[in-house]
Amino acid sequence: MIEHQPTARWIAVEDFLSGVVVHPDSSLQRAVTTALEAGLPPIEVTPNAGKLLKLLVQLSGARRVLEIGTLAGFSTIWMAQGLPDGGKLVTCEFLPQHADVARANVDDAGLGHKVEIRVGAALDTLQALQDEGAEPFDFVFIDADKENDAQYLDWSIRLGRPGTTVVMDNVVWEGAVLDPALDTVNAPGIISALQMMGEDPRLDATVIQTVGSKGWDGFALALVR
Ligand code: SAM
Repeated sequence: MIEHQPTARWIAVEDFLSGVVVHPDSSLQRAVTTALEAGLPPIEVTPNAGKLLKLLVQLSGARRVLEIGTLAGFSTIWMAQGLPDGGKLVTCEFLPQHADVARANVDDAGLGHKVEIRVGAALDTLQALQDEGAEPFDFVFIDADKENDAQYLDWSIRLGRPGTTVVMDNVVWEGAVLDPALDTVNAPGIISALQMMGEDPRLDATVIQTVGSKGWDGFALALVR
């Protein structure tokens, strides 16, 4: 497993930007605290990235959002805050304990009516959504087990429509995408997904590299053609 190594200066700049520009509300701040108190790992997106997700939901005019990887609901709350009245977010989480914390955080943020948390392996949940004939999703955020990133990308297309926006987190992974031996668990899955983004004719994509409290990483942004 790779070690993320943020520098003090990256963190200081991130804090500065978060305080000056991003302004996470008190429900988001509580979501981070309750997750730590419950012993969940601090692997949620940064406030800067969460706000980006919210803005992307708004910019794309999304009414239906699919999230793969809930944790304590931090990114869930950001995206649900970007949804219009009547909008819906379905989020997939493997661990019941994470889902319980997320449910409490989402309810605390006053967003329970917009958010459905589905517990189980995401690949099973995605299949179930298709079997149920779920309406197409307008926006998908992928942030779970990296081994399955390419499959999640394929599901995003199948459960989406032309024009669906897909964001995939952690696609640089401290540069392990250049050297998968650094993390043989996660890097191969990330590389496969990136190759698919570049080659699959159903997608048009790019990647932004980032630094900050989560180290050196990046997110991919793709549009379903
Ligand atoms: N998106 C969250 C945020 O920014 O607040 C962080 C998600 S965390 C990086 C990844 C989550 O995915 C964890 O809670 C983990 O339990 C969950 N997860 C891992 N493998 C999964 C799977 N196969 N199906 C569903 N969830 C999974």
